[in-house]
Amino acid sequence: GSWYTVKTDNGKAYECRIKGKFRLQDIKSTNPVSVGDVVDFTLESKNDQETGVIENIHERHNYIVRKSVNLSKQTHIIAANIDIGFLLVTLNNPPTFTSFIDRFLVTAEAYDIKAVLLFNKIDTYTEEETLEIKYLAALYRKIGYDCIGISAKTGKNIDKVQAMMEGKVSMFSGHSGVGKSTLVNAIEPGLSLRTAEISEQHQQGQHTTTFAEMFDLSFNAKIIDTPGIKGFGIVDMDKEELGGYFPEFFELKSDCKFNNCMHVNEPKCAVKIALDNEEIAWSRYKSYLQILEGEEEHYRKNNYDT
Ligand code: GDP
Ligand code: ZN
Repeated sequence: GSWYTVKTDNGKAYECRIKGKFRLQDIKSTNPVSVGDVVDFTLESKNDQETGVIENIHERHNYIVRKSVNLSKQTHIIAANIDIGFLLVTLNNPPTFTSFIDRFLVTAEAYDIKAVLLFNKIDTYTEEETLEIKYLAALYRKIGYDCIGISAKTGKNIDKVQAMMEGKVSMFSGHSGVGKSTLVNAIEPGLSLRTAEISEQHQQGQHTTTFAEMFDLSFNAKIIDTPGIKGFGIVDMDKEELGGYFPEFFELKSDCKFNNCMHVNEPKCAVKIALDNEEIAWSRYKSYLQILEGEEEHYRKNNYDT
């Protein structure tokens, strides 16, 4: 609505409304203020009630958006100033494919959000599956992403996740059933996310209004809960930009023969040479091609729930 709960540094919450026009940072959005925004406000006292008027929105270091279904070109800012995006990954129940992981990472790069992979349910894996997790973690660590094997159920390595979250604003993403609610409850007992319940309603074809919410945790960390949203959504990007969001490709780009190399059919492409030498993972290259080819088409074919 038109009222926002604004929390001050000393933890006091004020109901605030917006006044005046805000310079929207180059985007046409349906909402001028979002969860995660840092604002200045003035206090107004009326009949012993103190409310605020938001006067200024600080520049966002990033924000994630959703496209309006009906209003073309209009976007809705879901959340702003996110420090870390954790992606929960499970091998089965449900399976998380590398194409899904890579799409998440590309979006995180494009939005300038630090991405961390949490391999959950490590208490359930066979020896063979554990090896597969280790392979994946090594693959993504090599490219520069933090990876942690955890069990939201037994509490294994939850302290490591908490340590990463300290002083930061975090978001948790992943397919339905990967353990987001269980993990958040292990991190902060008593806190429940609305992400799961809303996605169940979606399956029944109901309309839901999604609004994100920020929670202060007991150990100087904040979580943004985004009901019905399992990732960072869609980023508009030119195909030429995509290679820049695969760090291991980007590193090699200056070695490609053509400086505008797309790493597809060009001769003397450093990325393809690295691929042949097994320095770049096939799964990563495949994801790159799939996103280039048009991710909508790809996702329809593969029936992902995003
Ligand atoms: P969400 O949809 O991502 O919020 O997933 P939930 O937190 O609801 O978890 C889905 C199911 O997986 C529940 O039955 C959880 O008890 C189970 N689960 C979550 N984390 C773990 C884990 O680390 N180990 C095991 N064995 N089960 C887990
Ligand atoms: Zn190339």
